[in-house]
Amino acid sequence: MKFYSTRNKKAEVSGAEAVCRGISDEGGLFVPQSFPEFSSEQIKAFCGEPYENVAAQVIGEFLPELKNELPEYTRAAYSRFDGDPAPLVKVFDKTYVLELWHGPTHAFKDIALTLLPYLLQGSKKLLGNLSTTLIPVATSGDTGKAALEGFSGVGGTAVAVFYPDGGVSDLQRLQMITTEGDNVFVSAVKGNFDDAQTAVKKAFTDTELKSALAKLKIELSSANSINFGRLAPQITYYFTAYADLAEGKQIRFGDKVDFCVPSGNFGDILAGYYALKMGLPVGRLICASNINNVLADFISTGTYDARREFRKTSSPSMDILVSSNLERLVFDLSGENDELTASRMAKLKEEGVYSLTPHEAEAMLRVFAAGYASEEEVADTVAEYFDEYGYIIDPHTAVAAAVAAKTRDDNTPVVILSTASPHKFAASVLKAIEERPTGNELKDLQKLEEVTALEVPESLINLPTKEKIFTDCIELGDVNGTIIAFAERLGKK
Ligand SMILES: *Cc1c(COP(=O)(O)O)cnc(C)c1O
Repeated sequence: MKFYSTRNKKAEVSGAEAVCRGISDEGGLFVPQSFPEFSSEQIKAFCGEPYENVAAQVIGEFLPELKNELPEYTRAAYSRFDGDPAPLVKVFDKTYVLELWHGPTHAFKDIALTLLPYLLQGSKKLLGNLSTTLIPVATSGDTGKAALEGFSGVGGTAVAVFYPDGGVSDLQRLQMITTEGDNVFVSAVKGNFDDAQTAVKKAFTDTELKSALAKLKIELSSANSINFGRLAPQITYYFTAYADLAEGKQIRFGDKVDFCVPSGNFGDILAGYYALKMGLPVGRLICASNINNVLADFISTGTYDARREFRKTSSPSMDILVSSNLERLVFDLSGENDELTASRMAKLKEEGVYSLTPHEAEAMLRVFAAGYASEEEVADTVAEYFDEYGYIIDPHTAVAAAVAAKTRDDNTPVVILSTASPHKFAASVLKAIEERPTGNELKDLQKLEEVTALEVPESLINLPTKEKIFTDCIELGDVNGTIIAFAERLGKK
């Protein structure tokens, strides 16, 4: 299996190289040159299989060079989940919720970030790369902790997380600064998320930093969602959800199922598109946006227009105006035209807008549907699910549930992807169900448990008693120096 770049098809790499490099030199994203297909017999055989086995088979189609190691990797990653990594819950008629938040940090990024370190480790071994890979991460909250949990203790890798001082929730900060492990580092930076992100991006292109690290046999890599190693693990749960529906006799084998996905960077829903290309009987992929509805507009109109005001919402992980993974869909719709994709992405960067041809836009609408939810609709949906079905969802999931209600076709079962545990957004959830948040996030967790009987995970309850290991706050200009100091400590271990 070979991969090439969406902006230059001549930039051809193996899967292992795609995982190690993350992004192509000219800024394009690596995509598989062809899509493996599962026969319906093969998909049937997923019924009743443990999640880790399905994951090894699905990912193995893209990374055959790691086929022997994958079962071990998926077992190690998914043993860190509390039971099944992707249980499917029936909420009401023909409406199901796929809970993707039973991992160590209680958000769906765990599904990919618990596995990526192993994929990276295995790929480096294949390529004979003996250096240590250091992953700098700028985070607005969830990704930082998921990366720390994923990489902590994995040999040959290290992770350094920078979060904006005062820019993450107390709970998220406590989750990060109490992370144990020799190969992890966390610091606050003086600035907002964009400042932190810009400082970290600069580190990747800083030649002085690179040569200082090279002397220590350390190289930088990225764990953000454009890495194919983060995308591939997400394809798995579309297959297991379908297999669970068939096994539970909710559908007949071969029936089409719709999926409604709360979208930000477009990685999660793109994985569903890849599952469809691999032979899964997907009906429609419904892209759900919050009021930052640039993606929903794109799907409805064929024009991507990021020239709009950024708005903060109760679903912060979806507050995004430039969705990096969309480039892979645009490349696919263009008939894999790398020059056209490159020019569209250049246009997006320069003018903030580009359009598909009418033909491409039609093709997109044969598979995708879209909608967005206002903040009021999100809160109403949280309340409705709780009051009517006794089922509690977080605001991200509620965006998808609200959009599913508006766009669904009543005859087709719909699976709503649930991307965060309600505990992580307890204050918003309490408000939605007309309870008063306490003003203290940890107390809100307990209050949510009292009101809804939804048990707080132990790892969250215990947070206040854990040792606060990383208490520094640095200036933006000190990010590079801090990375070097961390690298030097790693070298000594
Ligand atoms: C990252 C995230 C999303 C958006 O997923 P994309 O793959 O970026 O579209 C939705 N919900 C939560 C809770 C997330 O953390």
